[in-house]
Amino acid sequence: MRLKGKTILITAAGQGIGRASAQACAAEGARVIATDRDANLLAGLDMETHALDVTSDAAVLALRDRLPPLDGLFNCAGFVANGTILDVTDKDWDFSFDLNVKSMLRTCRALLPGMLERAQETGTASLLNMASMASSIKGFPNRTLYGATKAAVIGLTKAIAVDFVKTGLRCNALCPGTVDTPSLRGRIASAADPVQAEKDFIARQPMGRLATTDDITPMVVFLLSDESRFVTGQACLVDGGCTI
Ligand code: NAD
Repeated sequence: MRLKGKTILITAAGQGIGRASAQACAAEGARVIATDRDANLLAGLDMETHALDVTSDAAVLALRDRLPPLDGLFNCAGFVANGTILDVTDKDWDFSFDLNVKSMLRTCRALLPGMLERAQETGTASLLNMASMASSIKGFPNRTLYGATKAAVIGLTKAIAVDFVKTGLRCNALCPGTVDTPSLRGRIASAADPVQAEKDFIARQPMGRLATTDDITPMVVFLLSDESRFVTGQACLVDGGCTI
């Protein structure tokens, strides 16, 4: 029970990496508060759930008022925009930065004070932000806007980590490779040639396969647990060797 006694909130826990992380953290003894914009997707999770759209300041603040101080927060919500810089409209830019980056400002502004209280009481608290290997770490074709937002997440993570390094609050970024999730399946299905698109996604993973969510969740549990107590400000890759 590596997370026993910890209360952890996860955003975008309705499907994909967020959902698998909620289940993995609960299995390690955490009280998990699983949230998602789409409440229907939270059905079937055997834990406390709340509808939460992280693009709404009001929604984040309203939920904060119903929560205990948190030991852990996993900002998982994000959207993959497709295209080169020549495809990016102002609207796309604002949408992706709002969901992938500004959402973290909203949740941190609301929830970090409580986490700092917990860190003072217990000596530790952990904030985990979802980035990607497609970020400041590595460029990928047709991922201009996505890569820019995830690079911003890494910068934000390091800034938070350094500001609070003496408090017990740690802040890290998770940088997965290509993970088989509903949204990846959606990107494959919407490609002009879905069979080739799947082959291309697999080809960019040197291990010759996509990651499963179970390949990613052990790092989530580690970073939210006290086992990672000397780890902060890091962009933690789980990418199957993509960036060797
Ligand atoms: P997904 O895209 O399959 O699911 C995303 C979830 O986010 C859905 O349940 C959706 O309802 C929820 N969501 C969307 N907008 C929201 C909002 N405004 N507020 C709250 N919830 C919202 O999930 P995934 O592929 O596991 O991706 C999760 C995160 O992991 C994203 O940040 C993504 O960028 C990142 N990531 C994914 C991969 C991958 O290959 N799948 C790789 C690296 C990083």
